[in-house]
Amino acid sequence: MITPLVDPFHRPISYLRVSVTDRCDFRCVYCMSENMQFLPKKELLTLEELDRMCSTFVNLGVEKLRITGGEPLVRRNIMSFFHNMTRHLESGALKELTLTTNGSQLAKFADDLYSAGVRRVNVSLDTLDDKKFADITRWGKLDQVLKGIDAAQKAGLRIKINTVALKGFNEEELFTLTEWCASRDMDLTWIEVMPMGDIGNEDRLGQYWKLDDLRARLGENYTLTDLAERTGGPARYVRLEETGQKIGFITPLTHNFCESCNRVRLTCTGELFMCLGQEDNADLRAALRNHPNDNTPLEEAIRAAIKLKPKGHDFDYSRQTVDGRVSRHMSHTGG
Ligand code: SAM
Ligand code: SF4
Repeated sequence: MITPLVDPFHRPISYLRVSVTDRCDFRCVYCMSENMQFLPKKELLTLEELDRMCSTFVNLGVEKLRITGGEPLVRRNIMSFFHNMTRHLESGALKELTLTTNGSQLAKFADDLYSAGVRRVNVSLDTLDDKKFADITRWGKLDQVLKGIDAAQKAGLRIKINTVALKGFNEEELFTLTEWCASRDMDLTWIEVMPMGDIGNEDRLGQYWKLDDLRARLGENYTLTDLAERTGGPARYVRLEETGQKIGFITPLTHNFCESCNRVRLTCTGELFMCLGQEDNADLRAALRNHPNDNTPLEEAIRAAIKLKPKGHDFDYSRQTVDGRVSRHMSHTGG
């Protein structure tokens, strides 16, 4: 019998997010600076090492795996990794294999993802306006993402749209985005912008649109019913009675739901972050590389890391300054 992973605050750890690359074909203004320095390739875990890492977590009781980045679908041969993870779905050990993507490569990979056992995908999309999309992503093309979403739905993948709430940017699209998602049978989750990484000259406080305000505005046009559904993360959900769709709010800043956190995050270099909003991490790559034929040191390193999971993060904008900021970019830890 394997003892499951439980942290010092009695939270079972059943969800692993894995950033498979820090690179991306977009440069979203809240996420990256225009001139990013990426990690040298030799620092990255190989796909075989990623497989061994994830498989070890699955053996220790992780039931949900979310692949993210950077942009996970720009990592070379990433589909072979997805196909290798299928064995854990087939054995029943893994309940869900999923990913978060900017959608740019979905048209190419949607069928393949479905055949690997992926059933749900989160696509990040902040605006439905071509010009604004080009501005916010710097390098992205809206049309390509919309074609990706079409292909994904055609392949049978259920799509959830993730939208970062940005003051003065997509405020005016609150209802357009809601209606667009409803018309395509997609849920929509809003995310508060978090103070992560140096993003050049962009202004964090200026970007911050409080989700309490967004929710109140939504309530002017729709009837909102709170849902009890919990995913062990910082999201809370409502149903819009008029459309039946689910709307999520990820509010690490205005509300902190760390007490039920069930997740840890692995970077593409093998660091394990026990909390998105804290700097503490454990180097799992050494335990993995130094013992190619023995998994015990890796399992011990994972258990030791989980014992250090902090109670919560310290993000705070309430004093009109950006407090609790962390220096790494979201693309490093994986959003
Ligand atoms: N490239 C993929 C994508 O965009 O979906 C996956 C990685 S991206 C880092 C994951 C999520 O983090 C995206 O939904 C993105 O909007 C969000 N994100 C990035 N930087 C953020 C920040 N500073 N605050 C809040 N969300 C952020
Ligand atoms: Fe790339 Fe995603 Fe970051 Fe945008 S949010 S720059 S798509 S990693």
